[in-house]
Amino acid sequence: MSFAQIYSRVFRLLREERSTVVLLVGGAMALVLAQFAEPVLFGRLIDALTRSAKAGAKPSFEALLPLIAAWIGFALATIAAAVVVSLLADRLAHRRRLAVAAMFFEHALDLPMSFHSAIHSGRSLKIMIESSNAMFLVYLSFFRENLSAFLSLAVVLPLSLWLNWRLGLLLVALVLLSSIAATTVRRRTETLQGRVEEHNTTMAERASDVLGNVPVIQSFTHTGRETGAMRDLSRVILEAQMPVLSWWTVAVVFGRTASTVTLLAIFITGTALYLRGIGTVGGIVMFMTFANMLIGKLEQLVNFSNSLFLQQAKLADFFRVLDTVPHVVDRRDARDPGRLAGRVSFEGVTFSYPTEAGSARTPAVRDLGFTVEPGETIALVGATGSGKSTTLALLHRTFDPSAGRITIDGIDIRDMPLDALRRNIGVVFQEPMLFARSIEENVRIGNPDASAAELSRALERAQAADFVAAQADGLATGVGERGRSLSGGERQRVAIARALLKDPPIMIFDEATAALDAETEQKLQLALASATQGRTTFVIAHRLATVRHASRILVLQKGKVIESGTFDELVAQDGTFTVLARAQFLAEPEKPVAERPLRTATV
Ligand code: ADP
Ligand code: MG
Repeated sequence: MSFAQIYSRVFRLLREERSTVVLLVGGAMALVLAQFAEPVLFGRLIDALTRSAKAGAKPSFEALLPLIAAWIGFALATIAAAVVVSLLADRLAHRRRLAVAAMFFEHALDLPMSFHSAIHSGRSLKIMIESSNAMFLVYLSFFRENLSAFLSLAVVLPLSLWLNWRLGLLLVALVLLSSIAATTVRRRTETLQGRVEEHNTTMAERASDVLGNVPVIQSFTHTGRETGAMRDLSRVILEAQMPVLSWWTVAVVFGRTASTVTLLAIFITGTALYLRGIGTVGGIVMFMTFANMLIGKLEQLVNFSNSLFLQQAKLADFFRVLDTVPHVVDRRDARDPGRLAGRVSFEGVTFSYPTEAGSARTPAVRDLGFTVEPGETIALVGATGSGKSTTLALLHRTFDPSAGRITIDGIDIRDMPLDALRRNIGVVFQEPMLFARSIEENVRIGNPDASAAELSRALERAQAADFVAAQADGLATGVGERGRSLSGGERQRVAIARALLKDPPIMIFDEATAALDAETEQKLQLALASATQGRTTFVIAHRLATVRHASRILVLQKGKVIESGTFDELVAQDGTFTVLARAQFLAEPEKPVAERPLRTATV
């Protein structure tokens, strides 16, 4: 995205503020006109004084009074315009900053997991905060000062040419030289600054990663290494930044020289004109004031364009996220089916993960076909990478199949609004993913309108009631970041309670593989049994108990179902499942099965 594209989008985000923008442009215009009246009046006053001095008469105050009154009038108008402009600009900038952050947040929440797993959450947060701050600064400085600076240039150049074309041309030359210098420096530093921004992002990502893993850093006494790495990164950033700063110094030196030369030229030319009787002393003073004002505005505009250029990378990141579209969108004629019974059917479902280049990848699941009756529990087993998670991701439409279709109660899931589908499916993720809020708030995500009785029933069925009651603040106890202040089994049970409170007809479990003690294991099994009651359940199973109690087991290999049946049927078949089971479920019945040995078993 180019500089021009980015900033035209930044300003197009002001659509909703149209009336404020019109007022601001009007205010800036008034400000400029009033500002220019001042030097003109000042020049006139001096000429009036020198005229009467030449005539040998004493200058009278009465003769100057109208000019002084006009001066005061313009000064008051300037103050009024400045107040209006700064009030409106401040408000607009604050409103937009929050609106932009909210826009980013909303959009990011709609993006698929494939987006979020590819981008570090520290980076997302940095983009949200920095881009909204960048836009705040751009709007604020543009409307407060730089718009009027632009307009000043547009007014002062024709005005000065009209007043005195010889001196006016000197000012035009100054503006041209300054623009050329600024553009040259920007061209030279563009790539360099881009590199600096990249390093800055790496630093933010790294810091957020390290701060999220402080226990590991401390227990592995890695603090020194981490701070050292951070210091190295800072050095790299500074080294990358220095050449840019040198270029800016060049620009400053050039700008100062050009200004001084212009001022001198105006003074010399003006004096020559005066000596030849063409110009006046007031004219020289007026032009010197114009030139000074112009130099001030030029410097301001160069600074502004530098700041735009500094923010460019952050804003590009922002628009890149905003341009990412969710894979899955509602069909226009999608109809809400209400609460479903839970008869799930996969018909010839094939799916390949999209590649960045768009080229074909080998399918993650291939030609899946099976039907699950309401209330059945289906266990999915198979080696890591065999397609278990993908199968269930397709069911709640993280992705849509490349071929085939999935129906629930005979309705293609693509014919329902996404919200309606997901209201019917509860998911217990392998990692419980709790919020840094209270236990109650975490469970209520399942159903914010649930009554206190429903809440405590869900906790009871999830075998979580006992440990919640034992907490100092009961339900109001905070669980810490990602639920860190609870044990692994407790976190899982809170997550199950959350899904139970939602009470969907279909439930998906990605069983935790974390090693749990026997008692917790048993409690989790009870919670699971309770959660599966009366609903269609899919379990990515790592435990013998789960596999044994399933109505049916689907054995996946390389994206295909190679065996299916009940535990006893599959054992009797003496096929792949038996190999898996013997190595895993049967050999170590107490221990949950980790994914790693499962793979070894099938290789
Ligand atoms: P399982 O859950 O059985 O371990 P998955 O469904 O996660 O298997 O993976 C099936 C296949 O799809 C694997 O080859 C895996 O590498 C690939 N895969 C999984 N997730 C992604 C993804 N987000 N992008 C690309 N490929 C993926
Ligand atoms: Mg998986």
